[in-house]
Amino acid sequence: MTQNLRQTLASQVRAVSGRPVDKSTTMELWQGLSAAVVDQIADRWAKTSDTYAKGRQEHYFSAEFLMGRALLNNLSNLGLVDEARQALAEYGQDLSLVLEEEPDAALGNGGLGRLAACFLDSCATLDLPVAGYGILYRYGLFKQLFDKGFQTEHPDPWMEEGYPFVIRREEAQRIVSYADLTVRAVPYDMPITGYGTKNINTLRLWRAEPIEEFDYDAFNSQRFTEAIIDRERTNDISRVLYPNDTTFEGKVLRVRQQYFFCSASLQAIVDNYVEHHGEDLSDFAEYNAIQLNDTHPVLAIPELMRLLMDEHGLGWGDAWKIVSNTFAYTNHTVLAEALEKWEMTIFDRLFPRIAEIVREIDRRFRTDMAERGLDQATIDYMAPVAGNTVRMAWIACYASYSINGVAALHTEIIKRETLKEWHELWPERFNNKTNGVTPRRWLKQCNPRLAALLDEVTGSDAWVTDLSLLGSYLDAADDSVLDRLAEIKHENKVDFAAWVKEREGIDIDPDAIFDVQIKRLHEYKRQLLNALYVLDLYFRMKEDPSLDVPKRVFVFGAKAASGYIRAKGVIKLINAIAELVNNDEEIAGRIKVVFIHNYNVSPAEHIIPAADVSEQISTAGKEASGTSNMKFMMNGALTLGTLDGANVEILDAVGEDNAYIFGATEDELPELRKNYDPRWHYENIPGLKRVLDALVDGTLDDNGSGWFHDLRWSLLESGYEPADVYYVLGDFAAYREAKDRMAADHADVRAWARKTWVNITKSGRFSSDRTIRDYAEGVWKLEATPID
Ligand SMILES: *Cc1c(COP(=O)(O)O)cnc(C)c1O
Repeated sequence: MTQNLRQTLASQVRAVSGRPVDKSTTMELWQGLSAAVVDQIADRWAKTSDTYAKGRQEHYFSAEFLMGRALLNNLSNLGLVDEARQALAEYGQDLSLVLEEEPDAALGNGGLGRLAACFLDSCATLDLPVAGYGILYRYGLFKQLFDKGFQTEHPDPWMEEGYPFVIRREEAQRIVSYADLTVRAVPYDMPITGYGTKNINTLRLWRAEPIEEFDYDAFNSQRFTEAIIDRERTNDISRVLYPNDTTFEGKVLRVRQQYFFCSASLQAIVDNYVEHHGEDLSDFAEYNAIQLNDTHPVLAIPELMRLLMDEHGLGWGDAWKIVSNTFAYTNHTVLAEALEKWEMTIFDRLFPRIAEIVREIDRRFRTDMAERGLDQATIDYMAPVAGNTVRMAWIACYASYSINGVAALHTEIIKRETLKEWHELWPERFNNKTNGVTPRRWLKQCNPRLAALLDEVTGSDAWVTDLSLLGSYLDAADDSVLDRLAEIKHENKVDFAAWVKEREGIDIDPDAIFDVQIKRLHEYKRQLLNALYVLDLYFRMKEDPSLDVPKRVFVFGAKAASGYIRAKGVIKLINAIAELVNNDEEIAGRIKVVFIHNYNVSPAEHIIPAADVSEQISTAGKEASGTSNMKFMMNGALTLGTLDGANVEILDAVGEDNAYIFGATEDELPELRKNYDPRWHYENIPGLKRVLDALVDGTLDDNGSGWFHDLRWSLLESGYEPADVYYVLGDFAAYREAKDRMAADHADVRAWARKTWVNITKSGRFSSDRTIRDYAEGVWKLEATPID
């Protein structure tokens, strides 16, 4: 019989710290409380794993899981928040301070990794037999600091001080072999709690370790550098998320990582099948489905072929039949540069047998397509191998029984363009699964005030697991509810202002409109467009000091890939604008710019509940879905966006009066681009020349980097590529109009609150529970399996 949390807390803390609770540090309290939570769920976790092992299972393969913090999530899912608060209070400790000690598990870059994390939460909540598989990176995505406004990158050793939510499973280790190296893959399992359910699902993260901790023979025979080098090459595999892949050696490491977690995971899955269903693997696909989160895990396809043929004696035909009924592929991008391609040389060097299987897949594909009557050019275009290039997306399309996009518009674009030839061949494989986010983390936990209001208005907390229930309360908001809604937003903004003051040292006014753009820095996401607006607004105010401008805070949060200089230029630019605007006495704080450093899941949880405006301004057609747009909507921020990704579906849900949509649409852009002359906009759109010239005339200082000059050049000059490929200047006037109008509308408190209510109550379809139900029914053919 498990003891309750209060009983175990003290002993767990003492075991961690070796001291009485009142002498332990806050970090030790966090660790002890976390260990006490694991203790609570241990029996149910084992029972869930045993139950799932016997039936049909779904395995979610992803190079990224952007989990964020675990403790509050688990306490909340398990209904233990109050008990934990009281248990700590008995020792004079504050739960919220303890929670803030936890490092983020930042094992992902952005949306794709966070999606995987939201999916795990929904799968557990829905009692679905789904496990996640990835890599236990020792260093998460780099920690971002600013030095004179420039991004600097620093290591993020997130579990160095100990992390109770992963359990090392030494006994379940597997061997992964490369031509030049053999390593142990040791699984670290993370329990995934669901909301209000007994089931505990699993995220299995593999860590690479040397076969022997140290080769003493080599060491003793004076070959110690060799011994150390081999050990380091092994540790490299799970050292860091997305190592720099601009060099050949970087690419080799990346491929090594991908193969590492695919091979270890598949070995475990096949072994589990054999244990429960015997050596005859012909029913493997009846019991197992594998979802490939983008192309990073596509090596699982040839690796499963290898395991079935070389380790279990199947012939090619039988093995291929199993493989092609097992895998489903999710495409996440229409950007060509993001569809992975690797040199065959890398495969030959790392795993000749996999290379051989890939060549055989290619050979059979070509024969197969020729028999279907495809012309040679089409076959060459679609073939998995082209000369020395392996195309991972094409392998995925060929071998998968399902191919999906992540929002309605995105799925249409991949059918029409990105994966056109595949769609013509197998239209029935294609389906849409619009992304979603978990309302547990992104509403209940991060916005307790709003959650309490929803409990009150709907009379229960049933919305937490059935967000679409809120839809029936669209008309339930009388003036008193609307006023409460406005109050809640204001209180959240007061909290956020205190957080910003503490974290960034900047004063912001909770009465201002909080206008927020938080997401990875990329040109297609167009942070630059937002920055140009702010600069233009600043000049408008300088020109006419009596201009009646609603008070505003522009909040940014974004990391740029370390090799992506132009993205880093945008960060530097926004920081330079902040410097200019925030310190101008004439502006007197009427507008402020805040760049939140080191944007991550936890900062997002502080920022989103306080946002009034959600900036979703990508060039139409470029953002596959977006998910921060959904988080903002749930928390009552209104979307300022283009008709892109899931914005289209948000607009559809809330109607034109409750979102601010602007700019060129995806179907208009090809025609517009034919005659597009950014110079014309520069010369003719009032204010544009002024802001663009400010980049190079000394108004803003890029500290001699030349980066501001490059930004301006990218918008105006025709180099080897057309200028302003993301149509920033083309959309500028429409953006400014919509954003000005939006700011003016905010003054009508009730009318604005009503719009936010519509957004909140209509956010049901953007719960990841809905997405996961769609996958479970349409792709995975999976039944809920509650353990009791
Ligand atoms: C949701 C989320 C994202 C995705 O944001 P988009 O605006 O959809 O690109 C990225 N990073 C973090 C930390 C998130 O929580």
